[in-house]
Amino acid sequence: MSDNSRGDTIYLDANATSPVLPAAIAAAVDAMGDRFGNPSSSHACGLRAKRILDDTRARARRVIKAGPGRVLFTSGATEGIQTAVLSALLAVRERRAAGDACGDLLVYGATEHKAVSEALAHWNRILGTGLTLQALPVDADGRHRLDVLRELAPRAVMVCTMAANNETGVVSDLEGIAGVLREHGPRAYWMVDCVQALGKLALDLVGTRIDYAPFSGHKLHAPKGIGLLYVRDGAPYTPLMIGGGQEGGQRSGTENMAGIAALGAVLQALEEGTTFRSHAEMESMRDRLEAALREAFPGIVFNAPLAHALPTTLNFAVPGMPSKELLDLFDAAGVRVSAGSACSAAKAAPSYVLSAMGLPLWRSSGAVRLSFGPLATMDFIIEACARIRRCGEALRGAQPAASNLSGQAHGVLQLSSEGRHGWLVFDIDACACVAIDPPLALAPRIAAMAGSRGLRMAAVLGTGCDPDGMDARMALRAALGQAQDEPGALGWPNDAGEIMLDDGHGLACIAIGGQVLARLPSHEMRVSYLLGTPEGKRLPAPRMVFTGDAVVDGVAPDTVACFGVDVDGVPFRTLADDVGEGAMVLTPEDVADFLRTHEDALLVDVREPAEAAAGACRLHGRTAHNVPLSRLAENLAHLLAEPRRPLVFVCRSGNRSARAALCLRRAGHDQAWTVAGGIALA
Ligand code: PLP
Repeated sequence: MSDNSRGDTIYLDANATSPVLPAAIAAAVDAMGDRFGNPSSSHACGLRAKRILDDTRARARRVIKAGPGRVLFTSGATEGIQTAVLSALLAVRERRAAGDACGDLLVYGATEHKAVSEALAHWNRILGTGLTLQALPVDADGRHRLDVLRELAPRAVMVCTMAANNETGVVSDLEGIAGVLREHGPRAYWMVDCVQALGKLALDLVGTRIDYAPFSGHKLHAPKGIGLLYVRDGAPYTPLMIGGGQEGGQRSGTENMAGIAALGAVLQALEEGTTFRSHAEMESMRDRLEAALREAFPGIVFNAPLAHALPTTLNFAVPGMPSKELLDLFDAAGVRVSAGSACSAAKAAPSYVLSAMGLPLWRSSGAVRLSFGPLATMDFIIEACARIRRCGEALRGAQPAASNLSGQAHGVLQLSSEGRHGWLVFDIDACACVAIDPPLALAPRIAAMAGSRGLRMAAVLGTGCDPDGMDARMALRAALGQAQDEPGALGWPNDAGEIMLDDGHGLACIAIGGQVLARLPSHEMRVSYLLGTPEGKRLPAPRMVFTGDAVVDGVAPDTVACFGVDVDGVPFRTLADDVGEGAMVLTPEDVADFLRTHEDALLVDVREPAEAAAGACRLHGRTAHNVPLSRLAENLAHLLAEPRRPLVFVCRSGNRSARAALCLRRAGHDQAWTVAGGIALA
């Protein structure tokens, strides 16, 4: 498994981090075992460790062509960046104190890694240098605007421009930048973050005007916690860490010898040239991935021109698919990709890198990054392409993008966004649907989904008259090409029929295939809608009610109530008085035992149908039943029929299954479990 694949996993997130080269693991083990010495010790053990240190540094010098510049070991690029910024800013402070006017700007590329802009702001504040941070814009291709740099350079004290971008792979025009600096900013210190360049682009630092170049081991098959900083001969330098005088007093702290030895093995592989793929080989791998992606997702757009990008990075978006859904789909097929940089993966915000390139929101918030390393083999890429095609097929099989309409011919789909829940009641055979409380952000999607299945939207309804709900209904009607004005109150159509409840009440109703939706006005301008199967002119027992109220008079307690916003922490529950407890949690370690001792337990995969199609979920010899979270409300009554039969919900990471288990518990189920950490850990 030397090629990024671990068992069933196709790892395509090398820009986040990369698997450690086996030779690097062996070198680290050696440095922790036989050659465990402290390189500062003068005895034989120390000398043997020092040899590792010297050899690795010498290799690093050759690989990056450091010339007479300094090459220091750091904990990673973030430390290298701090050291460079601190060094440059202190030099500026000293120059100013000596009466040199210097400039007033700290210029950094708008698409730099956050470590750069944050370090500039931090040290500028701490050192009281009072400089102004100025982002250097990029063009639509993600390349620095040299015309703007020409204007800024005369005032710049430091310029930071990465060699290649971690999200898009866009390779900077370093020669162009050097030219501008030579002419317009000869005294500005220049830092080039080379993290994503090592092993993918030829480096010749001594031949450039670059003052500082940080590198990171874990981006190129060395472990985390080891990096390098190149400092041009003559560039100002101030140690970030001071103490025992290691690294010639330039970076104190006993060296990370395991990391340095491992990095040495990677650099050796780079020098020898037989372990890693050549640029041309990586390009042909990228071409295959590109073709597979185009085949799988016909509407795909690439977010950076491949001609200007590292051959190992593809950043794309698929119309109508938020990146979260694409990620879930890839993950189901065992393909690990990311939505942008790993550092921002936990944040839901659209990528600032793509926003800086002026891309529309759907492309920056729908972006997926696929990246491999120079250790990849063609067999690995071929398998990756096969999985990508499988994702495309899974999606088409479960069309439309919202997939979740596949399976049964009629039903109720939950559509949630930013804390609001919308509901689509549909009947595929009857080509009809009704939307209730659609969330604003999902209006285009709901319209596309209905359109692609040939469903006529019979009504767009609201349960209450809040302005947000009204805007959302209007947006959906606009997306559907319908008139802007609501036909009746809260979207109720003018041509409704009538149906009788068991208690003799007559209600206005709309037919959706074999089901009816009956309008039940409640208090304060609120309306609930009852859904059920009519018997002639009567609606004996509504199954579900769409409502803004936790209590709906005259409706049986076992009716499933679907809300526009959470009630008691859940989007739906029965109308019974008792609200059940929280979800029950199984740790990944507990699952096998639990399934063995509970033979009757039902394993329920709550991922969406396309994910289940891309990769079935099996845990400890059992295949899970797929009940997508978006269809759980309509299956609630069925699952509640056996309130003591253990239900074990699973999903990719444990988030959706926790929500499912909570819904079941709130609705009164005794044994609704979620597997913490999801399939990933179980
Ligand atoms: N710069 C770039 C371009 C990166 O991709 C990263 C890592 O995400 C860093 C800097 C930070 O590197 P490290 O993890 O070694 O601190």
